Amino acid sequence: MIGFIGLGIMGENMARRMLESGQDLIIHNRTKDKATALLEKGAIWADSPAEVAQKADIVFTMLTTPSVVESVIYGEQGLLSGLSNNTLWVDTSTVKPAYSEKWAKDAKDQGGRFVDAPVAGSKGPAEQGKLHFLVGGKKQDIEEITPLLEVMGQSVQHMGDVGKGSATKLAVNLTLVQSMASFAEAVSFGESVGLDRAQLADLLLMLPTTAPVLDGKRDMIVHGTFETQFPLEHAYKDLQQLSETAYESGAPLPISHAAKELFAFAKQKGLGREDFAAVYLALKQDK
Ligand code: NAP
Repeated sequence: MIGFIGLGIMGENMARRMLESGQDLIIHNRTKDKATALLEKGAIWADSPAEVAQKADIVFTMLTTPSVVESVIYGEQGLLSGLSNNTLWVDTSTVKPAYSEKWAKDAKDQGGRFVDAPVAGSKGPAEQGKLHFLVGGKKQDIEEITPLLEVMGQSVQHMGDVGKGSATKLAVNLTLVQSMASFAEAVSFGESVGLDRAQLADLLLMLPTTAPVLDGKRDMIVHGTFETQFPLEHAYKDLQQLSETAYESGAPLPISHAAKELFAFAKQKGLGREDFAAVYLALKQDK
């Protein structure tokens, strides 16, 4: 039996693919309503994270911030209290590596195992099973879960010991979030000097100087509608995780820190649950 905890934008799609591949799936989410479609397709509901861990051999989590993960794993009904018999916990949330390392130790203390396996790719790739898994942990554990990861993703990148998947994910999102911020800044600058928004956006996207991932953000910026694929508040959280990690390792992050403050400003403006492309609205001049 496979367990899945956290049925948000990413988790719901990942869990669905696992179910559709024929796996027996036991699921839990803070908001039970979000599990309805999966329950109708045959998943089993668990009343707590502990129950998922007791009944599953491998448990996936796809949650938001480190403190949310900790609220799900600790306590009487927490995931850790249900781990035993070598159960393997695979955390796919984006967090800093120090948390992955801490939770690996917690899992081991409970007789379980741990792998960090955050993902590159957003809502669309999660729906289509096209994610890239960035994985840290023991080779044997990763080999055991690879067939499951391949149901949800197109590649499995083993980056090293526990924590190295999370470290890699922070490096990936450094480029993603900076690219988004610089595209938004270029378009809002262009408009300020009288250029046409759509014409400029299309030109930028045609040139090799703009990251290809931004093709998917073109319509959001041109039409001003930001249907959420990657919530802006998570982009801000990732920059914070990056910042804390770089402080510990001593790496300077001058551009990421400027981007982080921009995302903080956008979140303060109430854009936290919009797609992260809405950072453009924080820059755009009111006319
Ligand atoms: P999301 O849609 O906001 O879903 C978050 C999940 O966490 C939901 O299951 C939510 O439960 C749960 N949660 C939030 N606060 C909670 C709390 N206090 N207690 C218990 N559960 C709580 O997030 P997402 O976009 O799927 O992202 C999940 C993770 O993947 C994040 O770490 C994100 O950075 C990362 N990620 C996201 C993307 C993307 O494009 N969206 C891509 C790659 C990686 P409820 O349903 O009850 O709210």
